[in-house]
Amino acid sequence: MNARQPIPPVAADDAQEPQEHYLAQTHDVVNQPPALEDYNLYEQDQALQEAVIREGGPGATNGLVAFGALAGTRETIELGFRANENKPVFNTHDRFGHRIDQVDFHPAYHQLMSIAMEHGLHSSPWTNPGAGAHVNRAAKYYMHSQVEAAHCCPITMTFAAIPSIRKQPELAALWEDRILANAYDPRNLPDGGKSSVTIGMAMTEKQGGSDVRANSTRAYPVGAEGPGQPYELVGHKWFVSAPMCDAFLVLAQTSNGLSCFLMPRWRPDGSKNPWQIQRLKNKMGNVANASSEAELRGALAWMVGDEGRGVPTIIEMVAMTRFDCMIGSSAGMRQAVAQATHHCRHRSAFGHRLNEQPLMQNVLADLALESEAALVYTLRIARALDNQHLEHERLLARLATPVGKYWICKRAPNHAYEAMECIGGSGVMEDCIMPRLFRESPVNAIWEGSGNVQCLDTLRAIQKEPDTLEAFFREVAEARGSDDRFDRFVAELQNDFADISDFQYRARNLVDRLALALQASLLLRGSDPAVADAFCAARLQSGGGLNYGNLPSGTDAAAIIKRATPVVG
Ligand SMILES: Cc1cc2nc3c(=O)[nH]c(=O)nc-3n(C[C@H](O)[C@H](O)[C@H](O)COP(=O)(O)OP(=O)(O)OC[C@H]3O[C@@H](n4cnc5c(N)ncnc54)[C@H](O)[C@@H]3O)c2cc1C
Repeated sequence: MNARQPIPPVAADDAQEPQEHYLAQTHDVVNQPPALEDYNLYEQDQALQEAVIREGGPGATNGLVAFGALAGTRETIELGFRANENKPVFNTHDRFGHRIDQVDFHPAYHQLMSIAMEHGLHSSPWTNPGAGAHVNRAAKYYMHSQVEAAHCCPITMTFAAIPSIRKQPELAALWEDRILANAYDPRNLPDGGKSSVTIGMAMTEKQGGSDVRANSTRAYPVGAEGPGQPYELVGHKWFVSAPMCDAFLVLAQTSNGLSCFLMPRWRPDGSKNPWQIQRLKNKMGNVANASSEAELRGALAWMVGDEGRGVPTIIEMVAMTRFDCMIGSSAGMRQAVAQATHHCRHRSAFGHRLNEQPLMQNVLADLALESEAALVYTLRIARALDNQHLEHERLLARLATPVGKYWICKRAPNHAYEAMECIGGSGVMEDCIMPRLFRESPVNAIWEGSGNVQCLDTLRAIQKEPDTLEAFFREVAEARGSDDRFDRFVAELQNDFADISDFQYRARNLVDRLALALQASLLLRGSDPAVADAFCAARLQSGGGLNYGNLPSGTDAAAIIKRATPVVG
């Protein structure tokens, strides 16, 4: 019965004996969308399909349809909810009193880890390098992270560790095959007995995270000193995510300065390496993943790279984790757009579908623009990573990584909040993915170098290697002449780089605009004309307000929304 129909009068015959069936029927559930599940995250994402082909060529599409289907099943989506409802639990000792440092996760977390590792999200560009390898892996990571972002942290660290570990070839020879194995082995056992391992990183200490030079953890040589030699580490780490990893890249001081070490959970003799988890962090987001505080009490570790060159050694890993932060935040925005456009396609208010009402169209289209701009930027960097042998691509990746990490991660929280509001009250509820996306959204901006640190790194890159800026503008200029607003924007920006004397103070403004210039260039060259036009109007021309929903009149919002909406139900 429709809830708005008047209640029929009670017939005289029924007055004494109410019909149970009639009384139990309070209302029909109408005007609610079907769940966004059992859909293909690749096939229902036009912008992703186009960007993969553009940046990686047909070879980059390998396995993406199948992976998109897997990521969109009800069962996979459910794993994300279960893994977050059941926080990891830390046990210091077993019941007999032995120190174990064991973090227990819900089985759903392990299943998500298995999916990621069996599909090579931690390994594929290293095991099968070449055209489209990073693009293909980024596309898979983009889909998988939409389902559950937190467990992607150890996936990223394992993936990112390879360039740093390769700096010490004999250590790489010991570890690389197991790091790159496409299997997940969560057992808390000496790594010698495992054919697949995961890697974490431990840099941050209480007195300094951005400024790791302040690290106080000390490394004492066991015998001979120098690269590849064993040391014992004494000190603490204030943040160690995924503490069940089999080994960690750690920064510690020797008498010759901050150096990088590979520290396994277990010693080669099968005894427990004395680094102890103190407690787990109580995080607002990234809940399914454990992050810990730890003390190192003579933990055995091997020096990676040159002594005193710890930062340049580990920065290779950090650069890759920063890239993954871009993928992760782009993915969060894509999932938010998918949820919001799906909801508004099925939900009516005041007699019309929400996605047909002009004001909501303005908001949805604006959210979709942001999401696609993040995606095209990220996959362009993936192409640069696939082509590091080309000087332009190397220079571009150097500058565009901190710019993109800063910009894309920073755009995520407000985007998640606006998408949540499109769904209304149900968007706030924990059985909707939106609260999780929202709580996850600030994390990528803070770890792996917070916003200001990315801006300062941009400055460092320009000062140390001015060709990076030239390469960036050369890339941006590929779209010159296709839009007047774009041409003006880029000309003004280039002008503002003529004098970088107070760059630190102005850095956010300049880095914002660098990011916008590259996003606009990529959209103008490769995306749907409606998307590119709206982006130039809304992001490159002033005059709009600051909130989403400020696209100017004349924008083809319906086309932008249609492009972004997954068709389910
Ligand atoms: C969930 C989570 C998991 C983490 N996991 C790990 C991990 O596994 N391993 C690990 O090593 N670390 C980890 N971290 C730590 C993280 O990398 C640091 O928190 C981050 O690098 C910032 O360091 P900090 O917290 O010491 O802040 P600070 O370095 O004190 O920075 C505070 C603020 O000051 C700004 N700032 C710093 N220097 C300057 C400057 N010169 N000019 C202007 N502004 C500046 C920063 O951008 C930041 O906004 C994790 C953090 C989080 C939140």
